[in-house]
Amino acid sequence: MASHARQDPAATRAAWGDSVSSARFVDAARTEALSRLGIQTVGDLVCHYPFRYLDLTETAALLHVKPGTDVTVVGRVHAVNVKKPRPRLTIVEVAIVDGTGVLLGVWFNQPYMASRFVEGEHVAFAGRVTLDYGMKQIRNPLFEKLGGTGDPAMLGRILPVHRTTDGLSTSWLRRLVAAAVDDFGDVEDFLPSEIRVARELMPRRAALRAVQFPSSHAECRAARRRLAFEELFVLQVGLALRRHAVQVLTGVAHQIGGPALGHLVQNLPFELTCEQCGARDDVLGDMASSVPANRMLLGDVGTGKTVVAAHALCVAADSGHQAAMMAPTEVLATQYADKVGPMMSAAGVPWALLTGSTPARRRREIVAGLADGSLCVAFGTHALIEKGVSFADLSLAIVDEQHRFGVAQRLGLRSKGAATDLLVMTATPIPRSLALTLYGDLDTSYLRERPISNTPQTVTEVVPVSRRRAAYDAIRSEVAAGRQAYIVCALVDESDSAQARAAVKEADRLATQVFPDLRVGLLTGRMVPAEKSKVMDAFRRGEIDVLVSTTVIEVGIDVPNATIMIVEDAERFGLAQLHQLRGRVGRGEHPGRFILFPDARTEESRRRMEAISSTNDGFELARLDMTLRGEGQILGQRQSGLPELKLADLTEDMDLVEAARDDARAIVDTEPGLDDPRNGPLRHEVEQRFDAVWEWVSSG
Ligand code: ADP
Ligand code: MG
Repeated sequence: MASHARQDPAATRAAWGDSVSSARFVDAARTEALSRLGIQTVGDLVCHYPFRYLDLTETAALLHVKPGTDVTVVGRVHAVNVKKPRPRLTIVEVAIVDGTGVLLGVWFNQPYMASRFVEGEHVAFAGRVTLDYGMKQIRNPLFEKLGGTGDPAMLGRILPVHRTTDGLSTSWLRRLVAAAVDDFGDVEDFLPSEIRVARELMPRRAALRAVQFPSSHAECRAARRRLAFEELFVLQVGLALRRHAVQVLTGVAHQIGGPALGHLVQNLPFELTCEQCGARDDVLGDMASSVPANRMLLGDVGTGKTVVAAHALCVAADSGHQAAMMAPTEVLATQYADKVGPMMSAAGVPWALLTGSTPARRRREIVAGLADGSLCVAFGTHALIEKGVSFADLSLAIVDEQHRFGVAQRLGLRSKGAATDLLVMTATPIPRSLALTLYGDLDTSYLRERPISNTPQTVTEVVPVSRRRAAYDAIRSEVAAGRQAYIVCALVDESDSAQARAAVKEADRLATQVFPDLRVGLLTGRMVPAEKSKVMDAFRRGEIDVLVSTTVIEVGIDVPNATIMIVEDAERFGLAQLHQLRGRVGRGEHPGRFILFPDARTEESRRRMEAISSTNDGFELARLDMTLRGEGQILGQRQSGLPELKLADLTEDMDLVEAARDDARAIVDTEPGLDDPRNGPLRHEVEQRFDAVWEWVSSG
């Protein structure tokens, strides 16, 4: 099996799809253990990259080991001790000696560690050295057994350490991986050689070997870089194909400069900022072209995206077509209608608002108006993409708050027209590396600054619960000055009735005990839309002083007179959510205050609170968020449907992300079907790793 495969790289690659049980040394029990690690196929095993390495090339003599440093040491097990200083505490101490000194490996409450070591055998420990009662020690060291005599073959090597599971020791797993790399590692390189040369990347088979068994740190880095690049590249080729599938369609070349646009521009109460002009030019430029637009407008809350969108709506109407603007919640959709609707009316553009709570009769009118083309612009929610809704001639789809809609819904609105221009707007600032990865098929325009910059920035304070009273006093004084306040209760899973009750109870307490003299309103996600709107309207009109809200989403509102917000259990919110919430205050001429009550005092919570207080810049915050959480989680949460990134690190590998995207676009632009036989392996790789998108591309 192995030997003939080695002669034919394509056959070897094909064998990657075989069950891992066909790999050397893999019996039934190991097959089962591997499957618990998510390793099903031979390829999974070859690509089970180590999460770290034990470096035996540079070991320190125990005498010279310094507390506070990270080291690898090698020695002979001198003694194994188990101590029980307290009823619920077990300490295992393994003392090793090397002729120059002694060092302890220490494990807490892992009594079984004692049986792992035998006096006289050689071991390597790695980790951070501390000094305890004058003894050098490493707590929970990474360790490797080197046999009775200190296997000289191991010394001088960099050993891979893999994530493993019960019933499969690190050394056995290492042996399985080594065999798999030997037998199945000689595969073709699917990266076009021009790219490999230009980017100075290692050949694939060398990289697959070196990432597992590097001979030096430099080689290890080079291998990881090569493999990280290929992950990003395959992903970007998939995205570029998705983008290309839309670009070959012929869309509407809109007329810029019609009467509605002219009217809008003349009657704007302000001048667009430079950034807004840039974004407007991007969007209108897309619309003027017959290539269907695929653009994302990224800008924090309050950066003025809506008015840019209004320009696009006018252009669609001027050109005799229709436009739809979809928001994720009824409150936001209604807010668009309230804000942009009048601009449309003034410009002579007939429009309507369609949501889940539009009365049946009105809905029928609107559906008819959209179908016969008498309505030019529709604002709305998911209601816009329901089956019964069709447009006479939709040429522009604007989807707001993209992250709350799936790709399917994004495409759903677009598919209400033929080759419709698509503009996605999001107020979730994400770092460029992540944007390129998640939305690599979209062009991007950024709004980074708020147009109204003469108001001082909102101040963020993290307040210990013991100073709750002071925060309530702050609300009082704002209300006394004629302002309004929000109190956001713990992030509530509205489907969890126990939680919902707790939040409602808290709201009650605030209304009756803390602010009995103020006008307190309550907004929960469980209220029916009509009830919600009633509360919202009252707040907007200033008839409510303090709005207690149990939901995050519905707070997507614009009330310039609201200047202060308190968030309970702040650490339960994501940084992006907190930042969105913060954007609700200080929207008018008065400065905002944003007060956080965290409850847990974990290190992670503390760092996140520190991050939110440290900056008002959403993009900077997103970057901090990503470094705190790791992009894996962020990607996972988005259920992006994109291939997994095992080695690429979006926080570190920005240059690789850019390079992969440029190269991917270049290759898809020159050869959209990847039909050249030379690109067969690449095409195959993209199909393998990206099947969902590939299906979409081939069907679209
Ligand atoms: P976003 O949609 O990005 O949250 P909006 O479009 O709602 O932001 O704009 C926030 C506020 O700023 C609105 O009240 C809007 O009227 C105002 N605004 C937008 N652009 C400008 C500008 N160029 N100059 C002054 N005010 C502006
Ligand atoms: Mg166009």
